[in-house]
Amino acid sequence: MERCLKDYFGYSSFRPFQKEVIQQILRGRDCLVVMATGSGKSICYQIPPLVSSKTAVVISPLISLMQDQVMGLKLRGIKAEYLGSAQTDKTVEDKAGRGEYDILYMTPEKACGTTWTSLLSRGVSLLAVDEAHCISEWGHDFRPEYQRLSSIRSKLPEVPFVALTATATHKVREDILKSLMLKNAYIAVSSFDRSNIFYGVKPLTRSNAFREELATEVVKDLEQGGSTIVYCNTIKDVDEVTNALVKAGAAARAYHSKLGLKERNDVHRTFLKDELQVVVATVAFGMGIDKPDIRRVIHYGCPKSLESYYQESGRCGRDGLPSACWLYFTRADFTRAEYYTSEVRTQERKKAVADAFAASQGYCTTTTCRRKFILQYFGEFTKNDNCGNCDNCTKTAAQRRDMVQEAYAILAAVKLCGGFWGMNMPIDVLRGSLAKKVVERGYEKLHVHGLGREKTATWWKALGDQLLSLGYLRETREKFRTVSVSQKGQRFLEELPNGASLVLPVTEEM
Ligand code: ADP
Ligand code: ZN
Repeated sequence: MERCLKDYFGYSSFRPFQKEVIQQILRGRDCLVVMATGSGKSICYQIPPLVSSKTAVVISPLISLMQDQVMGLKLRGIKAEYLGSAQTDKTVEDKAGRGEYDILYMTPEKACGTTWTSLLSRGVSLLAVDEAHCISEWGHDFRPEYQRLSSIRSKLPEVPFVALTATATHKVREDILKSLMLKNAYIAVSSFDRSNIFYGVKPLTRSNAFREELATEVVKDLEQGGSTIVYCNTIKDVDEVTNALVKAGAAARAYHSKLGLKERNDVHRTFLKDELQVVVATVAFGMGIDKPDIRRVIHYGCPKSLESYYQESGRCGRDGLPSACWLYFTRADFTRAEYYTSEVRTQERKKAVADAFAASQGYCTTTTCRRKFILQYFGEFTKNDNCGNCDNCTKTAAQRRDMVQEAYAILAAVKLCGGFWGMNMPIDVLRGSLAKKVVERGYEKLHVHGLGREKTATWWKALGDQLLSLGYLRETREKFRTVSVSQKGQRFLEELPNGASLVLPVTEEM
């Protein structure tokens, strides 16, 4: 094992878990490998075939990803090929049957259609399912064709199955084990903490002004070297942000699915060669990017899920040097929930998509440690409340203030409005609105009506988010989002002693 690592890959020691996983595979045991992007999962399935001289079959979701991997392996003198292109499949299949490959990649469709008999006659060392979270409806990148993979289990009874993913909430992990029928699997879960990455969030009010601001900041940071990726939710945003950056003097280019293959490859290539400082992209850019010195990943807009945010942001700082992930959002982004749920069909999927997006929103608005927030989402609990390397943990005492009166007002407003609205109604009431929806229900007669006039609606929303994350308010999301006062909030309303205080961070929206 060590010799293969040295001879083929040039590395002198294994990273955490690699050796254990390889040993288990060689003993024929199924494995589930959950490790952060960039931690070295591929080695886990690339070494066993070299040790045992039997072909490893790897299922991967995208042809482009397989092409990258095959190219990299060939350069290292490993015999690799992929199935999935009509022109070459026949030849590749013949050679595979003669046992001529160390590693054979294929799409899930191909894997389900393969007979396997000729491959098996020469021995198969393992079947790896890469990006295994695609099998789960709870994952952020569900692919129905992955679910058919369980059918090959019976065709390969003796072959160890290895599922690999960088995303694993508990649900997804359970789903993978069940769907692939992994038996008594060896499970390797590495920490999701990327301590060299600084996490920060900036709320925006007007996106126009922001693009200039973003451009100036990106250009300033570029002086310190390293490259930057800016992720956007739409192609329109990609184009506008690229223009702003170019105008500010950055070597920036756009990358999205509407561009031709030639241009996309060109962007990819020039970025890897450091001729390009910034790529502004939709999420189409990234799978398979292995550039160690990306210093900044910026998200323009609240991401679709915390899983995808973690994966995309994780592309910076692979060399272990200090790097930063900034997320810029506007509250208007949060209205995209409906758009995302309309993209999927089943009720279960809709719920999964809505939950994933809600977690992403929670990350945007939390005033506690961002790192802890992410780690907890992935089921990793740390006692440390202050990582010292995120925007919330580096806030000073001057950025905090007693908000007990305001908290009391908003909790009372939520309660008096009946607890079956979102945040907008109670805030409108607080701000003294006489809109039809307010007057129709007699809310203008409530004693809290107009109490919070001097503060903006955004200010109140920011406070509402803090009270939600502290558990004074609770929300439900059935058809609509409703916010009500929790037991903790109720106690606060009833038992608040004179002179009590509630010191909270003053967020940028306040
Ligand atoms: P993942 O699939 O988990 O995202 P990769 O398998 O692509 O990660 O590995 C990320 C990077 O780490 C690659 O450049 C890989 O060559 C490197 N790497 C993997 N294992 C080791 C090791 N034992 N020592 C040094 N570098 C390694
Ligand atoms: Zn922190």
